[in-house]
Amino acid sequence: MVQNAQDAETRPFWDGIAAGELRLQRCADCGSAIFYPRSVCPNCFGDRIDWVTASGRGTVYSCTVAHRAFGEFAEQAPFTVALVDLDEGPRMMTRIVASEQVGIGDRVELVITRLAADSPEVPCFRVVGR
Ligand SMILES: [Zn+2]
Repeated sequence: MVQNAQDAETRPFWDGIAAGELRLQRCADCGSAIFYPRSVCPNCFGDRIDWVTASGRGTVYSCTVAHRAFGEFAEQAPFTVALVDLDEGPRMMTRIVASEQVGIGDRVELVITRLAADSPEVPCFRVVGR
């Protein structure tokens, strides 16, 4: 069983996933959207951090196809791993699912899924436009 790295700092993120939402932090001082969860804004070092629900939309910044994998992911290859620029700003490493072709600049939307039967649900994306 793969465990989520849940603690007080990340719990709102995982609660969002369970509710079918991608939640990000937003700095109350400078307005920056923040991902991954943390207690201090990486832009202004402010500590007034709120949680917001993201649009779940973004653009592929970069992607690659993994033709070989190991462990629980071995039988899923080939699969696409991507860096997605969320519309709110942060760049997220993720998996592209349910998409025949993926390219830089493709528009994507959130798909919350389990990548293995005994793994936690995680935010992935699918292509919705080029
Ligand atoms: Zn800030």
